Amino acid sequence: MATLLITGANRGIGLEFARQYAADGWDVVATARQSSPELDALGVRVEPLDLSDADDVAAFPAKIDVPRDLFIANAGTSRPMNTGGAEDARDWQKMMMVNAIAPFQLGQALLPKLVDGGKMIAISSGLGSIGDIGGGWIPYRTSKAALNMAWRCLALEAKPRGVTAVALSPGWVKTRMGGAGAEITPEQSVGDMRRLIERLTIADSGRFLRRDGSEIPW
Ligand code: NDP
Repeated sequence: MATLLITGANRGIGLEFARQYAADGWDVVATARQSSPELDALGVRVEPLDLSDADDVAAFPAKIDVPRDLFIANAGTSRPMNTGGAEDARDWQKMMMVNAIAPFQLGQALLPKLVDGGKMIAISSGLGSIGDIGGGWIPYRTSKAALNMAWRCLALEAKPRGVTAVALSPGWVKTRMGGAGAEITPEQSVGDMRRLIERLTIADSGRFLRRDGSEIPW
């Protein structure tokens, strides 16, 4: 049976990934700060994990015993939006932990628990591209750019073990983060990303891709 570990699966894109893989018969371990009725209804194993808590993150990999085929670092936050003052600075630090440091630390520590041929996917964002820059969202952009760099470094470590590490942009998705005016549903986004993940090979490791498989400039 194929195995998935995914963070932030209580709602949004993470919940949809867990739902679709579980429906296909995968053995899913889902993490959440707090589960939700929707996640509980899937009947998958749920592990508590707060990505802003460095001790929680460091202790987590020891809880994962079965070798995994796929790790999806999905959990993320878009707060703060603003960049001025002490409170924004503190929230920005926390965002860097949640969006970049914790995903990398988990990926690195879980690497020995991935099967040969396994895959590690970071759910990044087009807003993390420095080459395709627009305005606004400065804290979020910096956190996803940091995630991209960390994941590219992780890909170097993962390659000798036969593990593929790729950063994916899910598109603009109707979730609490993406808002009701977003372009696509979680079902569409996750369906496209799953088809892409299935196609990825070790030759793709270290790439930053849209859900249709096209390259995003770093
Ligand atoms: P949601 O806001 O719906 O979900 C975010 C998820 O991340 C929730 O499960 C949330 O859990 C979890 N999370 C946030 N902070 C923490 C934390 N400290 N510890 C553990 N989990 C945490 O957003 P999406 O589903 O849209 O986002 C999923 C990923 O996709 C994110 O990485 C996001 O940056 C990325 N993305 C989304 C886009 C969109 O248009 N929606 C566009 C580009 C990228 P909790 O309920 O506990 O807060």
